[in-house]
Amino acid sequence: MIAAVLPAAGAGERFKNKPTDAPKQFIGLEGRPLYLWSLSALSEDSEVDVICVCVPAQSLDAVRTEIEEVLPPQQSKKVIVTAGGLTRQNSVHNGLERLSQLPTPPDFVLVHDAARPLLTTKLIKQVIESVTANGACTVAMPVTDTIKKVKDNIVGDTLNRNELVQIQTPQAARFEWLLEAHRKAARENFGTTDDSTILEYAGHQVHIVTGSPYNLKITNPEDLSLCQSLAAMLTQRS
Ligand code: C5P
Repeated sequence: MIAAVLPAAGAGERFKNKPTDAPKQFIGLEGRPLYLWSLSALSEDSEVDVICVCVPAQSLDAVRTEIEEVLPPQQSKKVIVTAGGLTRQNSVHNGLERLSQLPTPPDFVLVHDAARPLLTTKLIKQVIESVTANGACTVAMPVTDTIKKVKDNIVGDTLNRNELVQIQTPQAARFEWLLEAHRKAARENFGTTDDSTILEYAGHQVHIVTGSPYNLKITNPEDLSLCQSLAAMLTQRS
């Protein structure tokens, strides 16, 4: 059985103009809330059996209702909505613990940021192929810019870009590996921003699946404009 966790519980502070604005995962992209884009792609995939969406506690009921209204019944019945936590890591951990309570816990799990709406069926398939063959993987992109360290606004060492990648999601692992890795990180107070680092921390090798420049993460308002153009272009192509 293959599961997915979709962390969508961030406050999105870098995105907001005002603290009272909606978190970015709930704003509209081509008329559909951002989190529903990747949720729709994951729930459409016949290999993905269950998806746990992690949202702010105060949005649980509204999100459950919206999912039932928007997704076809055979897709919405795969979705569990649970409360996220203070950090992305806490939210993913909550989602994994919720999945571990299912009558049959999953064999593999994919974790995908709700803030990356342009997830494709092709990438989901590539990630499933890699995780079932290798046990753990992450989507990543080669680095094409020159990358330098910087201190006090002065550039220093230049890193060898042939040895660098830019990490995206989905990231995936054997379910037990990722659950145990999160429990270990929580016990030992190890905090990080993604699941490949948590898997490495627990001693697992994480394989690379090459991503796409379209799989961008919406962080700042400019990212949304770019995503809007890309979404319109991709919709026209399909
Ligand atoms: O903070 P960042 O933009 O990197 O967040 C990546 C993803 O993690 C987003 O989809 C965001 O909603 C989610 N997140 C979460 N819980 C938090 C913080 C972030 O689910 N406390």
